[in-house]
Amino acid sequence: MDVKTDVLVIGSGIAGLFAALRISEFAEVVLITKKEKNESNTNYAQGGIASVIDPNDTFEKHIEDTLIAGAGLCYRNTVEIIVKEGPQRIYDLMNLGTEFTKKNGKLDLAKEGGHSMPRIVHAKDLTGREVERALVQQVIENKNIRLIENTIAIDLITEHNMQQLKNSPLNNRNCWGAYALNCDTNEVLKISSKATVLATGGLGQVYLHTTNPKIASGDGYAMAYRAGAKIGNMEFVQFHPTSFYSPKRNNNSPAFLISEAVRGFGGILRTRDGEAFMPKYDSRKDLAPRDIVARAIDNELKKRGDEFVYLDITHRSKDEIVDHFPNIYQHCFENGIDISKEFIPVVPAAHYSCGGVVVDEFSRASLKGLYACGEVSMTGVHGANRLASNSLLEAVVFAHRAANNIKQFIKKDAAIITGIPDWDDSGTLSADERILITHSSKEVKQIMWDYVGIVRSNLRLERAERRIHNIFTETEDFYKRTKVFEDILELRNICACAHMIIKSAKGRKESRGLHYTLDYPAVSPTNKFGDSILQNLHP
Ligand SMILES: Cc1cc2nc3c(=O)[nH]c(=O)nc-3n(C[C@H](O)[C@H](O)[C@H](O)COP(=O)(O)OP(=O)(O)OC[C@H]3O[C@@H](n4cnc5c(N)ncnc54)[C@H](O)[C@@H]3O)c2cc1C
Repeated sequence: MDVKTDVLVIGSGIAGLFAALRISEFAEVVLITKKEKNESNTNYAQGGIASVIDPNDTFEKHIEDTLIAGAGLCYRNTVEIIVKEGPQRIYDLMNLGTEFTKKNGKLDLAKEGGHSMPRIVHAKDLTGREVERALVQQVIENKNIRLIENTIAIDLITEHNMQQLKNSPLNNRNCWGAYALNCDTNEVLKISSKATVLATGGLGQVYLHTTNPKIASGDGYAMAYRAGAKIGNMEFVQFHPTSFYSPKRNNNSPAFLISEAVRGFGGILRTRDGEAFMPKYDSRKDLAPRDIVARAIDNELKKRGDEFVYLDITHRSKDEIVDHFPNIYQHCFENGIDISKEFIPVVPAAHYSCGGVVVDEFSRASLKGLYACGEVSMTGVHGANRLASNSLLEAVVFAHRAANNIKQFIKKDAAIITGIPDWDDSGTLSADERILITHSSKEVKQIMWDYVGIVRSNLRLERAERRIHNIFTETEDFYKRTKVFEDILELRNICACAHMIIKSAKGRKESRGLHYTLDYPAVSPTNKFGDSILQNLHP
């Protein structure tokens, strides 16, 4: 089926929804999303959105905190952009119906690790769900936005889809929309657009343990890479130190996040035999930054062969715990643990990707007509490590900027082009061996967890590279022989992301921010590795 629109937005998290709403003020939007409209990383975000609201806070302090976390790789100009435009975007979200928590009529600002001031705007401990609720409501009511659920983008449409333009130079390519599978009808849509916004979120599902839901299979990174767009800094994957460990958790379902605020509230990490181990690793003990705590836990697990450590908050009263963490208390309780009396079993989990599709300060990717915002993008804001609660902020600020730029772009430069071929699946068969997909998916996640996780080494990366290459080749072969379906598309994307993470990690012969390798344990003093930029030269 052919669909034509001014702007195609892919993804319905904070970035996609906000961009769609802004674009709908001047153009028609088709918004596709691969599951139900609110299934996104955004919906799971607990803590909040960082922004300078307190009169005692300053832009300079927020900029400084962000630069320190980013370990020398942040772009100062984009950091300034998110910090300075942040407050206005928070008020926009409120005007669109988001109800943030207030105290005495003012926004209640929380403090999180790495922030020198209280500046986290939140909605109790369910901020993402509240933002998503408000934005989805606005999108549903908007006549200029056509929302299509259960529709998964397969690939971007560029010159490489057109026989006669196939060999055109990479630095002068366009994006003209995307092919997408409607999972309700099993039909592949050809969506032609003047501009395309990738807002497909993160890639946590590349790893065995992740806080990200199943949708976070790195589709946007993989599609952009296959289309020849520039991708940057993929080695910087943030692992959250504490997710709820449950042996019953299914392979694809997200690990429930036990927020850092629990450690801020006095939580103590203990080994299974009760030892409080953080004092051995850092003078700040349990309040050390995320990456240090995650590495300490990883070390204890690998040394002891355990599958989890404990987080102990039992010295605080039940009333205090329930008041501060109603959602966490409830989740653990439903899983058989009363956290006011028992220790919480926790394990680190892949949480956030700092790298992504390289964009400029107007969210423009390296293909003309392609924009990226939210977690899938690399704006230079996070550098080698993300400061807590800066990601929702980055997403909303850059979604706004994408919309502003698209307004100019579609007025002047853009057109819906003709001659895009229909999706061709002649000669392919319906998949009858789905076990191959399930098995390969488990294998990739395990390999990435064991060898390309929190602590890396040359040996581990090389071993991972060889194994991922085999699975990648088998998956491509399977993909070419079968009619497309969701699981094969996701596996293909997970393999592509695994490949990019390994390639970038191999190139970085130093330990910086979130990338830690036993072979080069120090930061290169000259910063000679800069950003890791990848480009698929033969799309
Ligand atoms: C448990 C958890 C807690 C977090 N807490 C915080 C926090 O407190 N503060 C903070 O700043 N950040 C937090 N983060 C990070 C933050 O939530 C994400 O970075 C942010 O929500 C990303 O928004 P997004 O719009 O880019 O992507 P998402 O919200 O993930 O949305 C992506 C959308 O794209 C769709 N999609 C994906 N692939 C395709 C495809 N091929 N075709 C069609 N649609 C597709 C998905 O279905 C989804 O609708 C947290 C993340 C998690 C997982």
